[in-house]
Amino acid sequence: CKEAGGNQFQFYHPEMETEMMERMKLETALFKALEYEEMDLHYQPQFNMKTKELIGIEALIRWDHPSYGRLSPDLFISLAEETGLIIPIGEWVLRKACRQMQEWMASGMKPVTIAVNISPRHFSHASFIENIQVILAEEKIDPGQVELELTENLLMHNNDKNAEKMEVLRDMGLDLAIDDFGTGYSSLRYLKDFPVSLLKIDRSFIDSMNKDAKSAAITKSIITMAQNLELKVMAEGIETEEQMEALLEQDCFYGQGYLFSKPMPAEELFNTYGPVEAK
Ligand code: C2E
Ligand code: CA
Ligand code: CA
Ligand code: CA
Repeated sequence: CKEAGGNQFQFYHPEMETEMMERMKLETALFKALEYEEMDLHYQPQFNMKTKELIGIEALIRWDHPSYGRLSPDLFISLAEETGLIIPIGEWVLRKACRQMQEWMASGMKPVTIAVNISPRHFSHASFIENIQVILAEEKIDPGQVELELTENLLMHNNDKNAEKMEVLRDMGLDLAIDDFGTGYSSLRYLKDFPVSLLKIDRSFIDSMNKDAKSAAITKSIITMAQNLELKVMAEGIETEEQMEALLEQDCFYGQGYLFSKPMPAEELFNTYGPVEAK
């Protein structure tokens, strides 16, 4: 269909039609998902692996569709990006995560960072900063407690504007993290131009660091670089003791992964990490 050459009718292959229909169905469902309250957030704790202390909590969106079942965010976040639905969804996530953190603290949990994933299209939206300001004010949360996880690729596009926005956010007191670090297109040079405070080493490197020398070397280099730049560094997707030990040996203290905890519903997180200290 690349050769369709302007003839629109060539688009309608039967298999294409099914694919398009599926997409449209999913798009319609996504459009309704917030209104129908099918979305929820799960929360994954982040630790200082040396002291075993809880240092932060990452909010991760979940969508349970009544007939499709649970859909992976990797699937629907990109659709939400393409359709622009990421704006209302992203705002909902931000508000819900801040509100949840406030509720936990009101119930006696110690204040830790709440980390929220922000899509490039949401970040680039003209009223992003304004929206954040409104949400932080309405939810009465200290901006210093909120961390935005951005992907490397954001740094590529619309450079000046994004850099400017990042400065504004930093001045507001928010922390900025680069998610999936090492997988994007960003040149390391960008690191000095953007006010980020944390690098999250992508899971793929952690997954293979004890199996292949190249991944180990990359992981090591990222940690060293972060240290030299005085950035915090966190490993994600830690699943084994060996991975944790190797990271600690290199003075990478912050970690997140199934070894410690899977993402879980708010109530479960509170029961595990709230004031009762079940650990
Ligand atoms: P991410 O931000 O890199 O989040 C980490 C993903 O790895 C999560 O998948 C998490 O459940 C999973 N994970 C955590 N620890 C481990 C581990 O030890 N092993 C393995 N194999 N996986 C682990 P999830 O929740 O399916 O989210 C996938 C991606 O979808 C996220 O990757 C993020 O890019 C995106 N996403 C999730 N929630 C949101 C959201 O609220 N807004 C936006 N814009 N994107 C989101
Ligand atoms: Ca993330
Ligand atoms: Ca902070
Ligand atoms: Ca990640």
